[in-house]
Amino acid sequence: MRTVSYRKGSEGLSLRTFLLDIYSTLYNTFGPQDWWPAESKFEIVVGAVLTQNTNWKNVERAIANLKREGVLSVEGILENKSRLPELIRSVGYYRVKTERLVNLMNKIREYNSLEEFLNLPMRKLREELLGIKGIGKETADSIILYAGNYPIFVVDAYTRRLFSRLGIIRGNETYDEIQKIVMDNTPNDEYLYNEFHALIVELGKRYCRKRPLHTGCPLNKFCEGVDNE
Ligand code: SF4
Repeated sequence: MRTVSYRKGSEGLSLRTFLLDIYSTLYNTFGPQDWWPAESKFEIVVGAVLTQNTNWKNVERAIANLKREGVLSVEGILENKSRLPELIRSVGYYRVKTERLVNLMNKIREYNSLEEFLNLPMRKLREELLGIKGIGKETADSIILYAGNYPIFVVDAYTRRLFSRLGIIRGNETYDEIQKIVMDNTPNDEYLYNEFHALIVELGKRYCRKRPLHTGCPLNKFCEGVDNE
């Protein structure tokens, strides 16, 4: 069993124990995050595309525009392609994101409903999503976890930064390698992965930023030399 031995407080712990310790510390500090903030599965799917490289407030504005104009549906998006860039302007890269949304809607339309698409077996759903031009692993896995309700761990920049600082990874691992490290060493549970990802994002925003705020960070008991940084 892999052990983690190079961060204070974690010496000799199995990686499984260490990861669950991190999770429970974050959960007990920040409480349940209850992601994804959306009114429907369709909204989650659209939000997962729009949220790349922007903050959630900008996504909310774009979703509100789509709702107000009555185009927050597969057909609505496909029939209003030319208006989309303006409606989702707040999220940035709005032309690229329009193209991604359209590609995703065309894929969903191959099925009888969004439900049917999301009910594909997890690996098949991932394959379908990753086959869509412009849909990357983080977006695909967010859809699979938060809309498909499958147990898959989402890796993002906050995860990579945190796990590097905690000594769990070196930092140059691929997306799939980091995901495998977590999924091989934690119970494959949808609720756990739902909250774990959301809690890591919360920590990344509040404390484990590019310039970290170690003081008061709930994980500083695990971080070596934080007093000197
Ligand atoms: S103590 Fe510092 S480096 Fe460690 S998790 Fe917290 S903010 Fe990040």
